[in-house]
Amino acid sequence: MNRDWIIDTPNKVGQTVEIKGWVQSRRDHGKLIFIDVRDRSGIIQAVFWGGNSDLFEQATSLRSEFVVSLKGKIQSRGEKQINSDLPTGTVELAVEELEILNESETPVFEIEKASEINEEMRMQYRYLDMRSERMRNNIEKRHQIAKLIRDELDEQKFWEIETPYLTKGTPEGAREFIVPARLQPGKFFVLPQSPQQFKQLLMVGGVERYFQLARCFRDEDTRGDRQAEFTQVDMEMSFVEQEDILQLNEALLIKIVKTLYPEKRIQQVPFPRISYADAMEKYGKDSPDIREDKNDKNLLAFCWIVDFPMFEKTDNGGWTFTHNPFSTVIPEHRQWLSEKKNIDQITAAQYDIVLNGYEIGGGSIRNHRPADLRSVLEIMGHSSEKINSDFGHMLRAFKFGAPPHGGIAWGLERLVMLLQNEPSIRDVMAFPKTGDSRDILMEAPSVLSDKAIKDAGIKL
Ligand code: ASP
Repeated sequence: MNRDWIIDTPNKVGQTVEIKGWVQSRRDHGKLIFIDVRDRSGIIQAVFWGGNSDLFEQATSLRSEFVVSLKGKIQSRGEKQINSDLPTGTVELAVEELEILNESETPVFEIEKASEINEEMRMQYRYLDMRSERMRNNIEKRHQIAKLIRDELDEQKFWEIETPYLTKGTPEGAREFIVPARLQPGKFFVLPQSPQQFKQLLMVGGVERYFQLARCFRDEDTRGDRQAEFTQVDMEMSFVEQEDILQLNEALLIKIVKTLYPEKRIQQVPFPRISYADAMEKYGKDSPDIREDKNDKNLLAFCWIVDFPMFEKTDNGGWTFTHNPFSTVIPEHRQWLSEKKNIDQITAAQYDIVLNGYEIGGGSIRNHRPADLRSVLEIMGHSSEKINSDFGHMLRAFKFGAPPHGGIAWGLERLVMLLQNEPSIRDVMAFPKTGDSRDILMEAPSVLSDKAIKDAGIKL
């Protein structure tokens, strides 16, 4: 890996370096040719002099997005030539050797102007869009946030565990993607809308502290800024109370901001806690934007929403859970749950974390006692057959010494989007889908051959 990163060149004046990257632009000035070369770390101006004619000749063939390897000396620019817009603007590369590693067709848009073109085009040519400073920065920051989360949770004795993608449907409210099980004709896997059940089973398994940057799949109707697949920072802990989970998560969010976004200011620490009822009354929504100054792009107003109702009325007069059927109720309302009374007043041990008007995560303390989970399901009107077929595996597991446990999941893209001041979660994903769930780069979904469809046991 014999190469120098462009960003390091200002510290290498007088040294010979080897730069590899893409030609961003070429400017011919008679006996001088300037090219801007870009690698992942930055951009530097490289200069070719007419004197060395072979090399100069070669330089005239360079076009945008050609891939090059350049050797030469880093030299200071004259006072008047300093470009204060570039981190490497005090230096330039005096090229002595040029190798063209690959050519490029004329790019469909100029990389520097990627932000100005329409989004479908950016998504179709994502590999070009990704070379822009904006996208490189979003992808890098997302990596740094993920790494910080991993390091912090490791410190706190969490284990990172991957849970299955081919699994069974779970009634958490979203429509699921289904996968035909070829070896069991007529049966289907579904892709998980969250690792909820597995993370709880990990607690029964004695893991005590789990996390995962988990891919979740939800077959959403075309609805604003949602994605069919997205990433959750998913956690579960045993022997904890709501307070422990709020504090751990609050500290983690603060650490991310302080470490990676020192220019930003958190409006209030500890994060204010607002009851669901107060949020609805005061702001008319349960993800209020409580920023003092909505034009300040460096202001972060986190708040917790707590004390959610456990149940809400369905259209046909029954009850359903407001968040998650696995949530438990606050200790004072356990009696009501088991007696199935005052259902509309039962408060869930449930919390959401909100940032600048967006819900960025939510979680709860769970029903670790099988009888409590059964009560929730009965209040929702599930027959005992349905309870056994949908939840039998959980109820059985909870009979074998399930510890008290609870957790939370953050939407990673939402968080990164807000921290990066981006308008859409698509801008912080390497390969997002369109609003109607198409991947226009890979052209997915696509038609399958008759044979593949027959093998999967599907009749269209
Ligand atoms: N599984 C929940 C969700 O996806 C999060 C949690 O309760 O931990 O919203």
